[in-house]
Amino acid sequence: MSDKKIFLAEKDIPRQWYNLAADLPSPMQPPLGPDGNPIKPEMLAKVFPMNIIEQEVSTQRWIDIPEEILEILTLWRPAPLRRAFFLEKYLKTPARIYYKDESTSPAGSHKPNTAVAQAWYNKKFGIKRLTTETGAGQWGCALAFACNLIGLKCKVYMVRISFDQKPLRKIMMQTWGSECVASPSNETHSGRQILKEMPHTPGSLGIAISEAVEDAVSDKSGNSRYSLGSVLNHVLLHQTIIGLEAKKQLKIAGEEKPDVVIGCVGGGSNFAGIAFPFVCDKIHGEDIEIIPVEPTACPTLTKGPFTYDFGDTAGLTPLLPMFTLGHGFVPEPIHAGGLRYHGMAPLVSQAAVEGLISPRAYDQIKCYEAAMLWARTEGTICAPETSHAIACTIDEAKKCAKEGKEKVILFCYSGHGLMDLAGYDKFLTGKLTAYSMPKHKIEESLCKLKKFPKAKKVKTGKW
Ligand SMILES: *Cc1c(COP(=O)(O)O)cnc(C)c1O
Repeated sequence: MSDKKIFLAEKDIPRQWYNLAADLPSPMQPPLGPDGNPIKPEMLAKVFPMNIIEQEVSTQRWIDIPEEILEILTLWRPAPLRRAFFLEKYLKTPARIYYKDESTSPAGSHKPNTAVAQAWYNKKFGIKRLTTETGAGQWGCALAFACNLIGLKCKVYMVRISFDQKPLRKIMMQTWGSECVASPSNETHSGRQILKEMPHTPGSLGIAISEAVEDAVSDKSGNSRYSLGSVLNHVLLHQTIIGLEAKKQLKIAGEEKPDVVIGCVGGGSNFAGIAFPFVCDKIHGEDIEIIPVEPTACPTLTKGPFTYDFGDTAGLTPLLPMFTLGHGFVPEPIHAGGLRYHGMAPLVSQAAVEGLISPRAYDQIKCYEAAMLWARTEGTICAPETSHAIACTIDEAKKCAKEGKEKVILFCYSGHGLMDLAGYDKFLTGKLTAYSMPKHKIEESLCKLKKFPKAKKVKTGKW
């Protein structure tokens, strides 16, 4: 019998994060301020603590993980690498399917990996309170969990549609001692403005970000900062512990390297976490197919242009060079709430421009079908976001069966779906529909970007 779980000893946990910015063959374009000039780090000082800003702009390849952060991460890390034998058998595939199980964290997803790090750096800088937004509730839970352990107050603006669909997440945040309100709310200027224009809006991550940033920067005591669960360089950096652990574990399992690496993408952090250490190998000559998977309802990488855009709806953030559907884009209320973000991490975007990664989009029916097959073979009930990675994994494994190829497939099991059963209920009772964002809706939203500076598509042409 072969091992179904590959553990890494706690003493072998990675002690440094990997920064892809050091190795990208074409340089990143800088974030721009409202005047179109590159922003200076000090301009972000009201939003983030300086130690995190330093990490955000760092081009150092390896960054030490402080011991006190590892002390908390080892509550659940190293996370197991598992082999999906039963799914392989069902699919009659010669492929070997491995997945990194990030659902074992206290909050049930990969998000605590960065929540703990961010809370720690804020505390170290003397901050007393963090604000944030949350889509499906995963990030709010992760930050609530981390702030509680590290000793910070925390306020979470939760996208209205998820607040209504997933009330249990709010209770989790409160259990960890955080405050959670539905967004748009009446508690901020930007929230009130949007409620006036669209009183019945399901909300969006972009709107919730605007509210959380406004809350942090308008705290006159200067003791509040904002924390973002995805998209930014430092967040992706903290998640690379996933891929670095996986690399060690694949070796233990006797695998040279993965042939295919897959992750779902919302803002891009769990994908970057599993993939960037392998993107590094690809840059240095390895043959690896690396696939980010997004929903057809929010097809940022597959349908959006690469351009400068705001990270939030109100335009409070700097302009970031990224694939985007426009900051005013409000995606349909699909169940994978964590994937309903209009933009994409600049580092993931630049890797896509280079051709180092090959994005795909799947609709939610196909993803729920994959989630059902997964639950009935491997047993666990995945998050609706994770089902996108599973759907793609199944397609790749079927392709291996057809072509008779023994590939090694690695994907990130980004979270469990035990708080997301309402979506499963809708699928099981036939109430869920497939949804692709029509072209004209994307074009309408992109109109607003016409006056923005254009980001240059710089690539070496090697991939
Ligand atoms: C938030 C979330 C995602 C999407 O966010 P990324 O930053 O793209 O990783 C994916 N899966 C789960 C389970 C999540 O909670």
